Amino acid sequence: DVLVVGSANADLVIGVERRPGAGETVLGSDLATHPGGKGANQAVAAARLGARTGLVGRVGEDAHGRLLLDSLRAAGVDTAGVLVGGAPTGVAVITVDPSGDNSIVVSPGANARLSPGDIAAAGPLLARARVVSTQLEIPLDTVAALVDALPPDARLVLNPSPPAPLPDRVLAACDPLVVNEHEARFILGDAAGGTPEEWARGLLGLGPRSVVITLGAAGALAADGRTGEPVRVASPAVTAVDTTGAGDAFTAALAWRLGRGDDLAGATGFAVRVGAAAVTARGAQESYPTAERAVAL
Ligand code: ADP
Repeated sequence: DVLVVGSANADLVIGVERRPGAGETVLGSDLATHPGGKGANQAVAAARLGARTGLVGRVGEDAHGRLLLDSLRAAGVDTAGVLVGGAPTGVAVITVDPSGDNSIVVSPGANARLSPGDIAAAGPLLARARVVSTQLEIPLDTVAALVDALPPDARLVLNPSPPAPLPDRVLAACDPLVVNEHEARFILGDAAGGTPEEWARGLLGLGPRSVVITLGAAGALAADGRTGEPVRVASPAVTAVDTTGAGDAFTAALAWRLGRGDDLAGATGFAVRVGAAAVTARGAQESYPTAERAVAL
């Protein structure tokens, strides 16, 4: 079982010829509304792979909240842990120009109201989870409460996105900490070395039991603090169409396979296939593969 604790957002996307500057109004395409948010993305990705998956999160009592609940349920995610109300559903307002560059405003909305008390209330769901996967689009206090509430035999997968300074006890609970290059550099600051192997060793020095660094088209690097040297895992070569949500698919796949008993390098080898499959189609949740498709890549 995979339990995801995290955000759910409606992504509101408008294509524009040129992104507006201060005080400027531009006309854009019809609005496209997509289910998103890192927590909901991970939950949908894990369920599509065949994992028994639940989400703990919060949406508003509004049309965007219903869209998110519908997409989670359609993918087979257990939504008993998704709380409704307290604020409008989180949204990301995204403008994209013809070159693919975008400008994004995120309104966290209900995600910012997911509280430590909500984690306490999710105790029965947590008690059943083998792997718990979370990110930082919910309050850091809530992530810290989750760390304190984890059953002793549950494994925590944390993707610190958007990057923020992490308390030592949160870092120490990660197994693994999953970062892209940008997040690795943020956490390491001036201590970042020149190679991903050096980043991995630097990150392990901060306390997590293991570290996985995603490297885009180059795949990923897995470093288990218990078993030694970082291992590079190549990605299958694919034609990238849209990388939105690829990191979330990667992390969900990693969490699922770790929960099934794979070692870190083995789970990473599966996760790069899922990440690569997710970049071959448009969108985030719409692009997530079944396990069969990921293996066939
Ligand atoms: P993020 O999307 O969080 O910035 P990455 O760009 O490192 O993270 O991508 C996450 C994962 O998605 C990679 O480890 C890889 O599996 C897959 N991926 C991303 N871009 C590509 C690509 N161009 N070709 C193949 N796989 C990719």
